[in-house]
Amino acid sequence: MASFVFSDWPPHLTDTQQSHLTQLATTYALAHGLLYLPPSSSSSTPAPTSAIHAPLSLFPSPFPRSLFQNALRLQKIYNVLYARIALDEEFLDSVMGEVAQVDEFTGQIWRSWKTLRDEGITQARYDTIQDYHLGIFRADYLLHAPKGSTVPISLKQVEFNTISSSFGALSDRASSLHNYLLDATDYFGLSPHLIKDNLPSNGATSTVVEGLAAAHKAYGAHDAYILFVVQPGERNVFDQRWLEYELLERHNIHVVRQTFDDLLTNASLSPSRVLTLRNALPSSTSGSSDTIEVSVVYYRAGYTPKDYPTSSHYALRETLSRSRAINCPTLALQLAGGKKVQQVLTKEGVLERFLLQSPKHTGTETAEAAAAAAAHSSGPEEFTPEDLALIRSTWVDMWCLSDPGPPDGVTQALEHHASLVLKPQREGGGNNVYHSSIPSFLSSLPAFALPAWIAMRLIEPPQNLGGYLVRAGSGESNAARKDVVSELGVFGWALFGGPRKEGGVVRQGDGGWLVRTKGRESDEGGVAVGFSVLDSILLV
Ligand code: ADP
Ligand code: MG
Ligand code: MG
Repeated sequence: MASFVFSDWPPHLTDTQQSHLTQLATTYALAHGLLYLPPSSSSSTPAPTSAIHAPLSLFPSPFPRSLFQNALRLQKIYNVLYARIALDEEFLDSVMGEVAQVDEFTGQIWRSWKTLRDEGITQARYDTIQDYHLGIFRADYLLHAPKGSTVPISLKQVEFNTISSSFGALSDRASSLHNYLLDATDYFGLSPHLIKDNLPSNGATSTVVEGLAAAHKAYGAHDAYILFVVQPGERNVFDQRWLEYELLERHNIHVVRQTFDDLLTNASLSPSRVLTLRNALPSSTSGSSDTIEVSVVYYRAGYTPKDYPTSSHYALRETLSRSRAINCPTLALQLAGGKKVQQVLTKEGVLERFLLQSPKHTGTETAEAAAAAAAHSSGPEEFTPEDLALIRSTWVDMWCLSDPGPPDGVTQALEHHASLVLKPQREGGGNNVYHSSIPSFLSSLPAFALPAWIAMRLIEPPQNLGGYLVRAGSGESNAARKDVVSELGVFGWALFGGPRKEGGVVRQGDGGWLVRTKGRESDEGGVAVGFSVLDSILLV
């Protein structure tokens, strides 16, 4: 097989080939639920009557096989690592507690978490109940191939998501799309790399659903519902509905969808903190109660301050977190997903503390719990220095703008701004500050806010890699060929915490991935915000 040259990708399509592939791809997408609601519609009432295909790529994106395998292997370590971080109150307090003092949004989440912890201790509320955390994670990576460097291409982590990790279901369908295009056209025999063996299987939907079903089972009331907390007017509903369909078809678990505003009127806690919803479903004609019990609260909202327009919305989040229902994520897990945690992990000794020493548990558990945890959890022997080296090999330089130095964090950021991105503690895209914008941004950033910002080296994806990207309603009858950057996301889940006797035992799963491809001119890469298209992998 000819060796692969990134800058030769993708093969050139004639106009006829291009419109043929576009025709097949968009039709397949519409037929197989690779969909979005159209821009003007709302996901609630009235019922949708139309959909558009998700933005997509005609060719899969090349990814070196060994780096792809590394990314999959890393997920098993990350699942446990983030579970342990979320259980380590002392660590989270020192890292995110500091940010909470200067960042309003982090402060709200952290203070609610603190309130619940204080209640747990003073009112002994958490003695007998399940205190599980469910994390559905997506670790995001870019390929790093610095221009003019002889260092081999490598895998670098962009971020680790612990809340609302989306696009599992649509990503499965994007993989199927490329498989279909290969079956249907052989891509006109344009590349020897385009063969079945080079298109890895996906399975992200099942992974996410498995995590939700595991939490539902741990809750222990089969007839309870999984609550999807969603944003009003969400256009990415099909990605969410596919999870709902698989939960019902494969696990016989029912889902109910509610916005924060719906929940403000419908949600309540019983004295024993069972979460119930009124009016969430039409009342039953069979005369059974129209109040339903919630087993798992799965947040596809709540990651941005925009989701909390009033203090009642934060109070609601606290109430949901106080309930016996298993939260995905818990407040602690949401805090663990902070960019600042990602940065602190790169400091000397921190990774060792989590992965090579005995798992650390909350200070409130019993001796039996600690012993049981030590006996059953993924203990220190599970991870090796090689595992840690593999994780570290995917990290780029990061520091906090409040680092004292010398040189201090801001001075370093100014000096290296051309090769940096600055990130606050936010999710969902559109919050970062890139290279040339950094100096003027820093001159306007008040000193007190510095602990909430990290600086990160820009990863440099392969140059001159092209793609044919298709967007619905763009007015283009054909795909636009452009220079692109592809970001890989790997899915995993962890269910941990739980009744005291289970201590820190981690149940986890992984499998499935996402590729989002964006035009190189865009610094950011969200599909939902319109910068990226859905893609899949071609192993090279
Ligand atoms: P969010 O949580 O809002 O998605 P990210 O950290 O993923 O924030 O940043 C958004 C986008 O910015 C990424 O998808 C990627 O395209 C780009 N980006 C982030 N960090 C880097 C980096 N170190 N190098 C290059 N691009 C980056
Ligand atoms: Mg991201
Ligand atoms: Mg994110």
